[in-house]
Amino acid sequence: MATRHVIVGGGTAGLNAIRTIRAYDRGESEVILVSAERPYSRMVLPYYLGRGIAESHVFTATPAHLAQLQVQAHLGRRAASLDTAANCLTLDDGTRIEYDDLLIATGSSAVKAPVPGADSPGVHSFWTLEQARGVVAAIREGSHVVLVGAGFIAFTILNAILALKAKLTIVEIAPQLLPRMIDRTGAEMVEKWLRRHGVAIRTGATLTAIEEAEGRRRLRFREGEDLLADVVLMATGIRTNLEWLNGSAVRVNRGIVVDDHLRSSVGNVYAAGDVAEGLDLVTGQPAVHAIEPTAMEHGRVAGANMAGQDLAYRGSLLMNIVEVCHLDIASFGAWDDPTAEAVAAARPDRWAYRKLLWKGDRLIGAMILGMANDIWTTNDVGMLKGLVQAGNGLGAWKAHLRRHPFDIKPAFIASGTTARLLPETILGRPSVPVGQVM
Ligand SMILES: Cc1cc2nc3c(=O)[nH]c(=O)nc-3n(C[C@H](O)[C@H](O)[C@H](O)COP(=O)(O)OP(=O)(O)OC[C@H]3O[C@@H](n4cnc5c(N)ncnc54)[C@H](O)[C@@H]3O)c2cc1C
Repeated sequence: MATRHVIVGGGTAGLNAIRTIRAYDRGESEVILVSAERPYSRMVLPYYLGRGIAESHVFTATPAHLAQLQVQAHLGRRAASLDTAANCLTLDDGTRIEYDDLLIATGSSAVKAPVPGADSPGVHSFWTLEQARGVVAAIREGSHVVLVGAGFIAFTILNAILALKAKLTIVEIAPQLLPRMIDRTGAEMVEKWLRRHGVAIRTGATLTAIEEAEGRRRLRFREGEDLLADVVLMATGIRTNLEWLNGSAVRVNRGIVVDDHLRSSVGNVYAAGDVAEGLDLVTGQPAVHAIEPTAMEHGRVAGANMAGQDLAYRGSLLMNIVEVCHLDIASFGAWDDPTAEAVAAARPDRWAYRKLLWKGDRLIGAMILGMANDIWTTNDVGMLKGLVQAGNGLGAWKAHLRRHPFDIKPAFIASGTTARLLPETILGRPSVPVGQVM
């Protein structure tokens, strides 16, 4: 009998696992996908909101593509419980599916701020395609949109809101913008930049209630004036979709605890993507990243191991890169490690700021801000990411970078970073183009 792999969740991690299984076994095993939604990329939803792409372009696998990969798909169905002793998954309609091995890739969901009125009409999250459709229908030219939360996800949709010619106010409970992505100095620069582009900003603002106000929403705060909004978007955090595992033997900490093969505490159950607490490349510690590259890499490593390979994973690099009104903002690795040796430099005239963080002569984290049309910024974003990812000792180049944080290129080239990174692949072999997997 053919081995039966069951994949729960058809997002980035799940689909990468399926394609990897097929790249190895070319159709020999049975693959069953159970996914509450049709496969699509959440990451491109901001472009759909800004009308940069049609809705049809968000999907990552058509039914025909899944059929070509010989995937038996249960779309629109949810996993309801997992019996790891019997190797059996039960779906929300009672269907029972036995498996040889199973991948949990159910991702995360948006969480609204716990205030009265958060669930009333006109108050949206922006995480799923369905929620995106609601927001697309709600925002019109001239609408006043209040974005609650100024984290990475909020920033991914900011350009789209402005492109729709809406009036935008951002409110954030923390004293600064992007509190989990950049430091205070960087955030002050971003705030100044956004104000210049007509965005109103309130930091240190604790929302206490959202009320109906003659067809609009009234936002009340612990301190300061109320705000009247046509559309409220909450980007106030996410939680992993793991409630269906309650009572199962799979060990969960902040996410599902996995080893370096993406295997959970149950030998034939794997986890990948936002739900998995995998290794962080820089710290070597378990971490939930909840970013696209980590989901992709997890999915590929889990898929390879499910297909019978013995593939250990070095860990993923924490990275956030976003562009708002043509200002690039990025941070990598341990950008906020308080124990690291740090050097920062700003060129306010060029809207440029960098911070480099060191352990010995190794760059363990970096932060960079700069104009997106400045080739200097674009190149340095890539090279700083490369230096953190490669993790090699920089010897004398450390002193150079400390003195000249805006002169990254010589250190990048002379330290042999390209030569170190080029041969690296996740699977230990070149990847197979999507159309040629089977
Ligand atoms: C607006 C937006 C912008 C983003 N931008 C970026 C970005 O620029 N860069 C970046 O790195 N990351 C970005 N992300 C985050 C990125 O999209 C996620 O980290 C990534 O989608 C995680 O992939 P995943 O496969 O783990 O989960 P998901 O892609 O969330 O897929 C999970 C799948 O599981 C299904 N599912 C859930 N529960 C069940 C269940 N019980 N049974 C069956 N199926 C279930 C879901 O329907 C979904 O299909 C963005 C996210 C959003 C919402």
